[in-house]
Amino acid sequence: MITLQTPANQLTRYGKTAASRLKFLGITTATDLLRYYPIRYQDLREVVPIQTVQAGDRITLRGKIELITNRRSWRRRMAVTEVLLRDSTGAIPLIWFNQPYVGKILKVGDEVLVAGRAEEGNYPLHLANPTYEKVRREQTHVGRIVPFYALTHDLSQKQLRALLRLVLPLAKQLPDPLPESIRQEQRFMPLVQALTAVHFPADRQQLVAARRRLKFEELLLFVLQLFATKALVASTPAPAIPFNEQRVRRYVKSLPFTLTDDQRKAAWEILRATDRNEPMNRLLEGDVGSGKTVVASLGMVNAAAAGFQSALMAPTEVLASQHERTLRTFLAPAGLTVGLLTRTLRTINGVAVTKPKLLNAAAAGEVSVLVGTHAVLDDALTFSKLGLVVVDEQHRFGVEQRKQLRRQASTEGAFLPHLLSMTATPIPRSLALTVYGDLDLSIIKQLPAGRPAVTTRRLQPNQRADAYAAIREEVAAGHQAFVICPLVEESDRLGVKAATDEHRRLREEIFPNLRVGLLHGRLPGKKKVEVLERFRDRQLDVLVATAVVEVGVDVPNATLMLIEGAERFGLAQLHQLRGRIGRGSAVSTCLLLAESDTERVRQRLDALVQSRDGFHLAELDLKLRGPGELSGRLQSGFLDFKIATLHDLELMNEVRDVAKQLFDEDPGLTRYPELRAAVARADVHPE
Ligand code: ADP
Ligand code: MG
Repeated sequence: MITLQTPANQLTRYGKTAASRLKFLGITTATDLLRYYPIRYQDLREVVPIQTVQAGDRITLRGKIELITNRRSWRRRMAVTEVLLRDSTGAIPLIWFNQPYVGKILKVGDEVLVAGRAEEGNYPLHLANPTYEKVRREQTHVGRIVPFYALTHDLSQKQLRALLRLVLPLAKQLPDPLPESIRQEQRFMPLVQALTAVHFPADRQQLVAARRRLKFEELLLFVLQLFATKALVASTPAPAIPFNEQRVRRYVKSLPFTLTDDQRKAAWEILRATDRNEPMNRLLEGDVGSGKTVVASLGMVNAAAAGFQSALMAPTEVLASQHERTLRTFLAPAGLTVGLLTRTLRTINGVAVTKPKLLNAAAAGEVSVLVGTHAVLDDALTFSKLGLVVVDEQHRFGVEQRKQLRRQASTEGAFLPHLLSMTATPIPRSLALTVYGDLDLSIIKQLPAGRPAVTTRRLQPNQRADAYAAIREEVAAGHQAFVICPLVEESDRLGVKAATDEHRRLREEIFPNLRVGLLHGRLPGKKKVEVLERFRDRQLDVLVATAVVEVGVDVPNATLMLIEGAERFGLAQLHQLRGRIGRGSAVSTCLLLAESDTERVRQRLDALVQSRDGFHLAELDLKLRGPGELSGRLQSGFLDFKIATLHDLELMNEVRDVAKQLFDEDPGLTRYPELRAAVARADVHPE
């Protein structure tokens, strides 16, 4: 018997082998699967007569299998399965390459649905590698609106859909976090129906209604979290950290550069806010490379001058160790001790130490600045006096985390450390207000002076050799280059396969004389840090990397970035990637290679060539992409929402009103235990 808590590896024989991959997607139980929403859908309902099929058509067919042959292509030793499919109007061959199991699953006489693209060439008109499914009472893969999920290497859409079919009957046991009154008011379907429809919708209307309900739920939990945080902040005092102007000035003078006006202004806003008994709750927003970390370091120096410790939390080990290194170079001369704590890394002033030693030092106040991942949120770690917490790119740093920090913050009594949240996501002020309500916001718009502009060029698909020549030239001049791989297949969400293949190809065939490294999300944390360190220490000339990981890397000597499959990325994301170069004083170049060359692709990429304004690009991205519900890929990753998107702002306004009413009437949500529990669970825990 499977239940909502059944671990994924006990779901099926298949679940056992796939467990580690599912875990990568954050799926460990049946419940997680139910909440793993599709990122897009394909409407494969319309079945066409075989007679009408023409080359180039993307179609769904329904017919009987008349013939099956299995053979090996003698030249490439590949398994080839050929099937003849017949309906009342005619017959067409289906051909599968390298999928020998197809010939075992399908039998002559089977009634099947298939979907794919009709092709003509080496073979007469046929479907190559079509998706197939036997005709059943209820279809899962073809002949319906079909869900597609963000996946990782070695997981297929079919496998995930099958797992969902298996766990979907459990959905009725899931408690519905939305109170009955809200459901009625909004005319929402019950949770079980929404989950069924979001994975396997009967029609578009149902899908839209289900998605709206799930978005509402997600946004409501988010807003209630915000309200709870605000209530906590309002009810708990923070230590006022006196603004030590002299000390801060001395530190600023010691920096190897002058601060930009925006940096000064942001720092001043922070220093003023931390000089009060009310806990600071501030978002520091600035484009990549705008120098947010340095701004945060001013707050740390000021805190240390008054005997307070600071902590900085980053989403990954790589970013944490990079922050640690940056802060150490700035802060060590100022006499501050910097520690690093992640799952695998523990250092004090750059020297490896044991965990107990680090914990003791933090508790004794000997570490002024502790950098780490979520490993920092651990009862075993206590501070003698923690005054300032900085979180980098962690949009869901919620009320539970703040309470946890309150427990860890001090040996002297309960107070809430000041919080500074940093992000490179260009959220326009108006949007930030809609999302967060009245939060305190500091924005760094200027980039530091002396940064030469990054030249961006869009290459034609046939100019790859030019890009490689440019890389060789740059390396010959003593610089380094990034090659960013796109996510080619849905089944390779983290781009591990794409990057691994590209790395091999570049190292062996294209740049046999260069030192080529590889960085992707499946590498163990320690290994990632090591690769990045080798790149920074110039032991590697070229770093092949995926886009999903490590966008925060800071290697000023890297002056060239080649982005493959550029049309597959959003403009804002491309802009973020481009921000990895042009960080030193040398002229830098970003080369965009697209696989397709349509007008739309050109238009989008040219916007990037022309603009360096992250805000502008983010807005343009929205306009050019348009809200995609059924068609196109849904924008994902906005503030780590699973289903809500930037387009759901209107809904957000509605949700705020509902949340406000709920919260005003019953701040503890005592009348809605399911909702209350869901809010508490809504925190995300990266890593
Ligand atoms: P962000 O986190 O905003 O992307 P960082 O804080 O990592 O940016 O800073 C990017 C790089 O620019 C770092 O190497 C940093 O030392 C440097 N930097 C920061 N501020 C300035 C400045 N005012 N002038 C020159 N370089 C700066
Ligand atoms: Mg940064």
